[in-house]
Amino acid sequence: MSNILETPRAHEIAKALDDQRARIAEACREAGRPAGSVQLLPVTKFFPASDARILRLLGCAELGESRAQEAGPKAEELALAEPGAPIAWHMIGRLQRNKASNVVRWAAVVQSVDNEKLARALSRAAATALDARERDTVLRVCLQVSLDGDPSRGGARIEDLPRLGEIVAALPGLELAGLMAVPPLGSDTEQEFARLRQVHDRFVATFPFATTLSAGMSADAPIAIRHGSTCVRVGTALLGPRPITSP
Ligand SMILES: *Cc1c(COP(=O)(O)O)cnc(C)c1O
Repeated sequence: MSNILETPRAHEIAKALDDQRARIAEACREAGRPAGSVQLLPVTKFFPASDARILRLLGCAELGESRAQEAGPKAEELALAEPGAPIAWHMIGRLQRNKASNVVRWAAVVQSVDNEKLARALSRAAATALDARERDTVLRVCLQVSLDGDPSRGGARIEDLPRLGEIVAALPGLELAGLMAVPPLGSDTEQEFARLRQVHDRFVATFPFATTLSAGMSADAPIAIRHGSTCVRVGTALLGPRPITSP
């Protein structure tokens, strides 16, 4: 019935997906890490629902989006198109508190929690959605870390992570999964990912279940894997360039 996998676009994406899987496997091998210890999270922002559908049919059951207003309708369209192939969506972009009740309708994971008010809003929204059976799992949460301490770019300061971790771990409807970071533009990613790993090691000493470390994108996934990333968020290398207005 579904012949979307026969299209040229699907062939293109399948090839890119094979390449990225091989690249991750190679980076794991080089780092002496078990194959399969790193999740490939395709990022579909700015790309049509049909691309997300192709990725899902190629076996990617978790996908990332960074803009709530775009992701909600896309997730809904996909749920209707492929009811037998659910997708666990990750919100990876900056999120405003007033979008919390929208986001809990489609996201399985929010990777970009960086302040207490947002955490509380997500908790309330997730708890309400669970009660109303609008979702059937708690919302998994990663704290986004600011590696340069510049709050305008998103992310919590490193020194605020223990407190924010305590808050999220105690809130109903949420489950603390780990940390996420985007290295500052123009920074030495090798150095930043090495530092991030230390931050994550300390975090896990306090929150042993928070084992996710979401780090690395198209340009730097192998470096992040060398430094302990468990989830690389890859857009461009799978789907091609986005419009330059990309946030
Ligand atoms: C868009 C985006 C990505 C993917 O970036 P690419 O360079 O296209 O792989 C990863 N993480 C976040 C937070 C993003 O917004």
